Amino acid sequence: MKKTVSFSKHASNVFFHILTRCNLKCRHCYINFKQHGKKTLPLETVRTWLFELARHTRNANLIFLGGEPTLHPHLPDAVKAAKEAGYASVTIDTNGYLFHDILQKVTPDAVDTFSFSLDGARAATNDALRGKGSFRACMEGIREATARGFQTSLIYTVSRANLHELPRMPALLADLGIRRFFIQVIGLRGKAAEKEALCAPVSKEAWLTVIPEVARTVAASGICAVYPKVYLEPEEPFACAGLVADNYFVFPNGRVYRCPLCEDFPLHSLRFKKDKLVPAPRINEADLFPLAIPEGCVMNKLVQGETLDYGEDGSPSFRIACCLLKEEVLPE
Ligand code: SF4
Ligand code: SF4
Repeated sequence: MKKTVSFSKHASNVFFHILTRCNLKCRHCYINFKQHGKKTLPLETVRTWLFELARHTRNANLIFLGGEPTLHPHLPDAVKAAKEAGYASVTIDTNGYLFHDILQKVTPDAVDTFSFSLDGARAATNDALRGKGSFRACMEGIREATARGFQTSLIYTVSRANLHELPRMPALLADLGIRRFFIQVIGLRGKAAEKEALCAPVSKEAWLTVIPEVARTVAASGICAVYPKVYLEPEEPFACAGLVADNYFVFPNGRVYRCPLCEDFPLHSLRFKKDKLVPAPRINEADLFPLAIPEGCVMNKLVQGETLDYGEDGSPSFRIACCLLKEEVLPE
């Protein structure tokens, strides 16, 4: 069963980058050191910010990110702090290397999900994008997490370099015991914004045919599949998550964004100042969210306008949905 997951102000999500450092150098890495620095947040700051963010949200889902968050030596204490602060769920996004014996220092009661990233069904394809040995590390990490009773999900960032291997993923996911499969569209951010041909986004036709088909196959094997909508149907209403949802993308230099497409720019609408979450000076992303344009998402037009297409009369051939609008295909 497929459904579009509508935005809700009642479901907050906090995406907390506790450091930007990583052991890998993925060709499409979205981390932008110029904008977000190279800082690792001290545990005390992580704790303080977690409580401050909890005060601004209700029953938020928390996702620890990096860089590679397991490189943070105090991640287990950060997880404990998240529980104390009352977050509804805690997820750790990882490239699979699972540093500092993280699986032995947290329990499935404290961490709801370990979310792994893999960009190919075979080592050759994945490692060409994410680095030599990363496929093996990810496989081993997933197997160990599952053996220790953790729920696992997997993120596959689709580009022209790995679209062809997506149909091989359902069998691999079932073999690994993955619970949720997230297909992600490559964002033209960070290194991918340097327009490496290898990391180019797939065509509209491929997105509308291959992705739903793979998601259906995944769901048929009992695994939930989620992917961004990207293209709105002609009559479908447009909504900007910056206006109608409650998401926080937090970086270690104190910037807090409401829209991930803004992360390559100093457009954050909130920031941490003396450990308090306060509005950032205008003009910022919040000034862009209300702009209604015929192309749909304003930021998409500004940062990746080449993804758009226009008819002879100058009107857009299609509208781009908010990058946070997802299709979810549930197992029958
Ligand atoms: S694992 Fe994530 S943070 Fe690390 S290089 Fe790859 S995309 Fe960037
Ligand atoms: S991606 Fe576009 S529609 Fe979504 S929050 Fe950002 S500006 Fe709004």
